[in-house]
Amino acid sequence: VLKYSPFVVSFRKHYPWVQLSGHAGNFQAGEDGRILKRFCQCEQHSLEQLMNDILRPFVPTYYGVVQRDGQAFNQMEDLLADFEGPSIMDCKMGSRTYLEEELVKARERPRPRKDMYEKMVAVDPGAPTPEEHAQGAVTKPRYMQWRETVSSTSTLGFRIEGIKKADGTCNTNFKKTQELEQVTKVLEDFADGNQGILRKYVSRLEGLRDALESSPFFRTHEVVGSSLLFVHDHTGLAKVWMIDFGKTVALPSHQTLSHRLPWAEGNREDGYLWGLDNMIRLLHGLAHS
Ligand code: ATP
Ligand code: MG
Ligand code: MG
Repeated sequence: VLKYSPFVVSFRKHYPWVQLSGHAGNFQAGEDGRILKRFCQCEQHSLEQLMNDILRPFVPTYYGVVQRDGQAFNQMEDLLADFEGPSIMDCKMGSRTYLEEELVKARERPRPRKDMYEKMVAVDPGAPTPEEHAQGAVTKPRYMQWRETVSSTSTLGFRIEGIKKADGTCNTNFKKTQELEQVTKVLEDFADGNQGILRKYVSRLEGLRDALESSPFFRTHEVVGSSLLFVHDHTGLAKVWMIDFGKTVALPSHQTLSHRLPWAEGNREDGYLWGLDNMIRLLHGLAHS
């Protein structure tokens, strides 16, 4: 059973590495300052191309595929390595969190998922339909769509997945954090209301937005389930990177996305920039209040 709590692994003697989402077994320590993530071809392709794109400064440096104990991993930069006792936040970007192809597959060949039904009932026993209750199962896109509507994914185009603060407190249960006021409060608390940190996040995100708007990679890819990883520490260092390209897929040639238009099935819009605009506006408000 996947537990939604972060776990801390001692990757190097002098600092604990923190994972805020995903399966516990997906990451291992790499060489110094690097981590290994379970291999995914989609992610490999994206990271390779991103190394030659204007987005490179906003993505962990990619070091190729490595084998360990008979398993393949993508090796990449450990984004926590330059920080001292960092505070970390994972925000899942976009207004849609599953690929269009997943929707098509689920429609053609529905695979009822008991695990997802159980996770749904744990948050809201009234969420499943009578049929779903009878089956004790839901399809994956149904579960993902429901998660979107109870979180800020559908209303703001991003949601907070997890936070671990320098003081040791962790929270990965933001499933129902949806209201603008709630989200704002969580962001403010993450930065301890520190205006200097908030301003650095805003300017980094503005730089990211400029890069995204002119990136050939971004224009030609559907970016789903990708996160922004926020990291700051007591020295005043504060940065943000794009991570998790397991569901970032190339569009058919000549097709491009605005990343701001609303999604309608077939248009493949992901709402990434809409979410980023909202995120920047929110943090900007906090940084200058
Ligand atoms: P999911 O799809 O469920 O989000 P995943 O297995 O695809 O999980 P990621 O989302 O890529 O994994 O990463 C999970 C967590 O690991 C992130 O929330 C972050 O805390 C940490 N992490 C991922 N990549 C890096 C990195 N390059 N440097 C530091 N921390 C990272
Ligand atoms: Mg992720
Ligand atoms: Mg992922």
